[in-house]
Amino acid sequence: MSSTVDDDTTTLPPPVLTDGIVVHDLHRAFGSVKALDGVHLTARAGAVTALVGPNGSGKTTLLLVLAGLLVPDRGAVRVAGHDPVAHGPLARAGTGWMPDTFGTWDSLTAREVLLTFAAAYRLSPAAAAARVTELLATVHLSEYADRPASVLSRGQKQRLGLARALVHDPSVLLLDEPASGLDPRSRVDLRILLRRLADEGRTVLVSSHVLSELDEMADDAVFLSRGRTVVPEATAGTSASWHVRALSVEALTAWLTSTGTAWQPDGAAATATGAGGVLVDVDGDDGAARLVRDAVTAGVPLVSLVPAAGALEQAYLTLEEERR
Ligand code: ADP
Ligand code: MG
Repeated sequence: MSSTVDDDTTTLPPPVLTDGIVVHDLHRAFGSVKALDGVHLTARAGAVTALVGPNGSGKTTLLLVLAGLLVPDRGAVRVAGHDPVAHGPLARAGTGWMPDTFGTWDSLTAREVLLTFAAAYRLSPAAAAARVTELLATVHLSEYADRPASVLSRGQKQRLGLARALVHDPSVLLLDEPASGLDPRSRVDLRILLRRLADEGRTVLVSSHVLSELDEMADDAVFLSRGRTVVPEATAGTSASWHVRALSVEALTAWLTSTGTAWQPDGAAATATGAGGVLVDVDGDDGAARLVRDAVTAGVPLVSLVPAAGALEQAYLTLEEERR
């Protein structure tokens, strides 16, 4: 434990908050690389908080500090009211950690992997057996319970990693890219499970650079860029790309061109119904309403108009643009 951590905790308000996560001015360097360079965040209990940032922005480093697996250079951290550095065992007992890559055990079955962790958390053998059976069902791995974990697919291993993080019924969940490698069905299951865990009053912090899934599952978002928490430029009301589809893409493009509106072909628009579409820059909801009204007035057989990216993705793209 470094004394700076203790010194800096005095800059935090008294730890009245006994749940959730609070991070104040966190720093951690690896040699000359400042992986964390001034992170501030709050994650509420009862909510899913997205930790969003490009590759190398410090997400994994931050989660390792929160999980008590990496000592920060300075800054203050409270996880469920505990300092993971000063009160490691206490903090870890209430924290479930799912790493981005989950090691394999050549000889252990999925059930044995979870029983091993349950024993490490000192669950009694009877309680552990029941808990593990329940968790295998929760992550839809019951039929793989007694097969070697090494034969599981990447997505199945991710689900086993999630079950592992839940073994000791933690109040705080730290999940590093949990949706990576999951098929669409498993992503939906993950979203439902994270929602349930949050509804039970837990704190869920989930990192990803795949934004569409976070957009759907997160209540709050924290953005990291080059080791710092940043507030993305407001995207509401600014011009953004929308998918515009019409029964006749020729009629649509002819009309857009005649009104002087720039458009681009939309590779994602081809559908079995024969309707086609283009990408158009639209000036917020007002611009979208205007476009619908004018297109319909001009007799263009409009089918749909949807934003090309969710709110998180658009915020993320403003961060990507600032990368050098
Ligand atoms: P993310 O998870 O957002 O992709 P990381 O936290 O893994 O980002 O990495 C942040 C930065 O710190 C990167 O520049 C990375 O190369 C560096 N880094 C992370 N871990 C180490 C380490 N153990 N040794 C040296 N550099 C590291
Ligand atoms: Mg990472």
